[in-house]
Amino acid sequence: MMNKFKRIVFPTDFGETAQSALRVAGSMAAYYRAQLDIVSVVDSTVYAYAGYPFATLAADLMKSAEEQLNKLKLPEEAKGVEVKRFVLSGNAAHEIADHAQRHSADLICMSTHARGAIGRFFLGSVADKVLHIAPCPVLVLRKPEGIAKAHASAARKDEKPFRKILFPTDFSPTANLALRRAIALTEDYDAELVVLHIVDDSLISTHVESERDIILKGLREHALAEMKAGLPAELVENFHTIGVVKRGDPTKVIPAYAESNHCDLIVMGSHGRTGLGRVLLGSVADKVVRNAKCPVFIERAKQSIEMQSEMAKKAQKLGAKILAKGKGVLKSGAAGSSGRNDAIKPMRSGPRT
Ligand code: ATP
Ligand code: MN
Repeated sequence: MMNKFKRIVFPTDFGETAQSALRVAGSMAAYYRAQLDIVSVVDSTVYAYAGYPFATLAADLMKSAEEQLNKLKLPEEAKGVEVKRFVLSGNAAHEIADHAQRHSADLICMSTHARGAIGRFFLGSVADKVLHIAPCPVLVLRKPEGIAKAHASAARKDEKPFRKILFPTDFSPTANLALRRAIALTEDYDAELVVLHIVDDSLISTHVESERDIILKGLREHALAEMKAGLPAELVENFHTIGVVKRGDPTKVIPAYAESNHCDLIVMGSHGRTGLGRVLLGSVADKVVRNAKCPVFIERAKQSIEMQSEMAKKAQKLGAKILAKGKGVLKSGAAGSSGRNDAIKPMRSGPRT
C-alpha cells in the first residue's frame, strides 16, 4: 500500500446520501485497515433565539444524535473495520475539521447534499466549508450518481472502487503533491491514470485567429514538456496514453473530461499557481468539486494547512467569546467552556465484526 490511511473521518447526518457514501468510506477503511470515525455534529446554536428553551433542546438533540449513531448500521463494505462513533456539538464544518486535526486523521471522507433527520445543518455548504478548512485531504462523494457508480463497482467482488483516476495539473507545487497522491491511489487500486492539463484559452487576449493558433500551439507544447518533466520515469514511458492537454475553461473541461472518459475519481490540489495565501481553496478546485459527477479527492497544500490552523484558532476564540455571552451554553459544557469538544469522548468502540 502506498497510501497510509490510518484514520478516516466520516461525518454523517444520517441521510440517505451519507449512508451510501459510508459504503465507499467503509470500503476504503477496510482496504487500508484504517480506523473509521463516524462523526455526527449537532449545531443547536441556530435555535438560540429569544426565549427559546435552548439548553434543553441542545441536550435533547445531542441525545437523539447519540441514539441514531448507535443505531447506525454499518454497510457490508465496512466489515472488519474498527469503527468509533462521536457526537460533537457546534458548527458542523468546524467540528469535523477540528476532530480530524485533534486525532491526526489522514482523510476526511464525506458526502454532500445529505438531507437526513437533522440534515438542515448538513447541506452542501458543510462539505464546502470542510474543504476550505480541513487539516487533511478530503474525499468528496458529491452527487448520488457518483456514489452509486463508485459503489456499484465496489460491489462487484473483484473490482476496486477506483479504476480510472484523473489527475488535472497546473504544474504547481500543490498539484505535484496531488500527483504523488494520484500515483499512490493508482498503485493501491491497480487503476489507470490520466494526467490532464487545460490551457486556459480565456487568458489569450488576441482575437487574431492566426496569432491565437500560434500561442495555443506554444502553450500546448510547453504543457506537454512540463508534464513529462514532472512525471516519474515509468510513467513517462507510457506518456502517450496518460498525458492529455486540452484547452478551454479548466473548471468546465476537467469535470467534462472525467465524465466522458469514465473516470471514477479526480485527484487534485487544493491550490494551484496563484491562490496560496490568498484563498482557502482555489477556484478551479472549488468548481470541479461542485461540477464533478464522480468522487473528488482534494490534496491539501501544506502551507494552507498551517494558515488554516492559525485561522481556526482565531475563529475558535471568537466562537468561544460568542458562546460565553450566555446564549450558547450547551449542557455538555464542552463547546461552551472552551469552544472545543475535547471533553466529549467516543461513545463506544464498535466491535470488530
Ligand atoms: P485560483 O486559480 O483560483 O487563483 P489556485 O491557482 O491556487 O487559485 P486552483 O487553480 O483551484 O488554485 O488549483 C487547484 C488545483 O486545480 C491544482 O492543484 C490542479 O490540480 C488543478 N488545476 C488548476 N488549474 C488547472 C489547469 N489549468 N489544468 C489542469 N488542472 C488545473
Ligand atoms: Mn489556478
